[in-house]
Amino acid sequence: MEQEELQRLIEVFLPLKRQGPGSEIETLMALGLTGLDTSKEVQVLDIGSGTGVQTLTLAKALKGTIHAVDLIPEFLDELEKRSGGEDLSATIQTHPCSMDALPFSTNQFDLIWSEGALYNMGFEAAIVYLTPFLKHGGALAVSELSWFTSNRPNALDEHWAKEYPEVGLVSEKSTILEAHGYAIKGYFPLAESSWTEQYYAPLLQRCDELENQMVHSGQEIDPITQHILRETRAEAELYHTYSQYFGYGFYIAQKV
Ligand code: SAH
Repeated sequence: MEQEELQRLIEVFLPLKRQGPGSEIETLMALGLTGLDTSKEVQVLDIGSGTGVQTLTLAKALKGTIHAVDLIPEFLDELEKRSGGEDLSATIQTHPCSMDALPFSTNQFDLIWSEGALYNMGFEAAIVYLTPFLKHGGALAVSELSWFTSNRPNALDEHWAKEYPEVGLVSEKSTILEAHGYAIKGYFPLAESSWTEQYYAPLLQRCDELENQMVHSGQEIDPITQHILRETRAEAELYHTYSQYFGYGFYIAQKV
């Protein structure tokens, strides 16, 4: 991605509460399914935290340290600002780095978390890379783009074949986890409202705001911004049309 496009994307996403689909209830539901003892101090890794909506939820629910990793330092700065105003039980440490080059040790974590971010590395490659950082008996909780059925419209398959060819059935994602030494502790699909109300509604509003600002200030909308606005609106429309066929699955598993 070009630097200019990245800067524009950061500008769009930075003020939003979340940078991907999800909800606080589902973060807590997934945490419950890990079976983690929340009265003990734990070491947690949150991969692709963004501005940290789920990091803050976890930090309120857990004791110990949560290491939030994201490629974009601006998102982590924002997470630090947001955490300042909260009464947190766990400490948050931020690490601006790529998820495939982590500065951590083998067997360091009791819990590895990632909401809507592993696709950046590819699901299976990410699982293989991350597993050594997790203690034996430790838990993994990740949300990942999944097919909910094998019976799908071609147009939808064609779209994701271009955008994220690793999208797979829930059974396939579970098989990958089992093949790499995990026992599945739970699974649930994110609610539709976690895409529409929690994610797309504020995002589309932000796109309209930016567009209106530019139009009102007499600024021409540059091609990069036009592209981002178009893609974002098309993706929201795609979800609206096909939400029964795909979404995010939340997978909760234990390293055995
Ligand atoms: N978990 C957050 C953000 C999800 S969006 C939420 O649900 O709101 C995906 C995040 O992954 C973005 O913040 C993006 O900056 C981050 N990301 C993308 N590529 C990455 C990489 N290689 N390493 C670490 N983070 C990455």
